Amino acid sequence: MKHPYDICIRGGGIVGHTLALLLARERLNVGLVTHRPAAHGPDVRAYALNAKSKTLLASVRCWPDAQHATAVTQMQVLGDDGGVVNFSANDLAVDALTWIVDVPLLEARLAEAVRYQPQIEVIDHPMPATLTVVCEGKSSRTRDELGVAFDVAHYPQRAIAARLTTELAHGQTARQWFTEGEILAFLPLDGEHGHTVGIVWSVKESRVQSLLDASTEDFCQELAQVSGHCLGGLQLASERVAWPLMASQASRWIGTAPDGTTWALAGDAAHAVHPLAGQGLNLGLGDVAELARILQTRAAWRPVNDPKLMRQYERTRRAEVSAAALAMDGLQQLFSKSSPTWQALRNWGMNGFERSGLAKQWAARYAMGL
Ligand SMILES: Cc1cc2nc3c(=O)[nH]c(=O)nc-3n(C[C@H](O)[C@H](O)[C@H](O)COP(=O)(O)OP(=O)(O)OC[C@H]3O[C@@H](n4cnc5c(N)ncnc54)[C@H](O)[C@@H]3O)c2cc1C
Repeated sequence: MKHPYDICIRGGGIVGHTLALLLARERLNVGLVTHRPAAHGPDVRAYALNAKSKTLLASVRCWPDAQHATAVTQMQVLGDDGGVVNFSANDLAVDALTWIVDVPLLEARLAEAVRYQPQIEVIDHPMPATLTVVCEGKSSRTRDELGVAFDVAHYPQRAIAARLTTELAHGQTARQWFTEGEILAFLPLDGEHGHTVGIVWSVKESRVQSLLDASTEDFCQELAQVSGHCLGGLQLASERVAWPLMASQASRWIGTAPDGTTWALAGDAAHAVHPLAGQGLNLGLGDVAELARILQTRAAWRPVNDPKLMRQYERTRRAEVSAAALAMDGLQQLFSKSSPTWQALRNWGMNGFERSGLAKQWAARYAMGL
């Protein structure tokens, strides 16, 4: 029986929208199931997106302008006992190490592009299709209904995200501090000369509520202290939102539903990683780029749910995601150990890494998706 859609994408986040646009370009008929999330303010997060994600989003004409995708030319990572690692776009001969993207703006651009794409129909409930791709995020209901295990390891921390205006310009520098098992990141926003940073502050569970309830002055004072007052006076420019932190990977990425439909998972529905290196969405976009590539280059006689193609998708993406998740978890564990021996060791390691030349260059290029 011919289905109304070649592909039904469940979940209208950044990953789902991007996949819809990539597949529509291949003249496939796409149904995109979105549902209105519970009313809350705009997402205050700012995502660090790498060169690979930039190229992908630019290919569907959704990459934001320079004001809303700030190029990061310097990156500084500071340990809790004198360890420092610096990265510079100049040293690596690239335009930028990463770009800090305004999330609501990127979402708006994707939604608009989908509206003007006749191959895509936005629908409010799932419809039969040759292939269903589940992009519903880490709490995906469809994944659970399909009986796919998603064993979650919760970190004993939450990430507080907010925006700050800063007295001094950020100078296109991203900064990250590791302090007593907690991690604070300042991500430059509002373009080259901006005075705004997005923060992601992974703090111990026991401190989350008091930091959310603190007066804006006390909150900024604490941030200024952890960041060594590097950007002068700080002012809170948004609400504070806390996100749970977890690591997980689906037990299966592809399969056949009881009704015979072929399905695949992508994005956070397939994997969740600690945000300390800003890789979650980069990995999700990597999933949909690979799936679209496999479908685009398939032999004309193979249907979009061909088992060989599906297995190829799972194999390729699982390998990359597992490696990234392991690295993220290892770093988180390394910096959560409180004994002086571990502290000395990790800071010594950071300084050794800083001087390591090729290893540092390799790690930077890997994080950049090059
Ligand atoms: C604090 C923090 C900072 C982060 N920073 C970065 C960063 O700097 N760089 C980076 O690459 N990543 C970062 N991430 C990770 C990033 O947020 C996720 O990887 C990304 O949002 C995953 O996108 P997604 O589309 O797969 O899922 P989601 O963003 O969760 O989107 C899923 C969508 O599906 C919809 N949906 C759910 N259920 C259904 C249903 N049943 N039917 C229809 N629709 C449904 C939801 O409403 C939502 O719109 C960060 C994460 C956190 C928590």
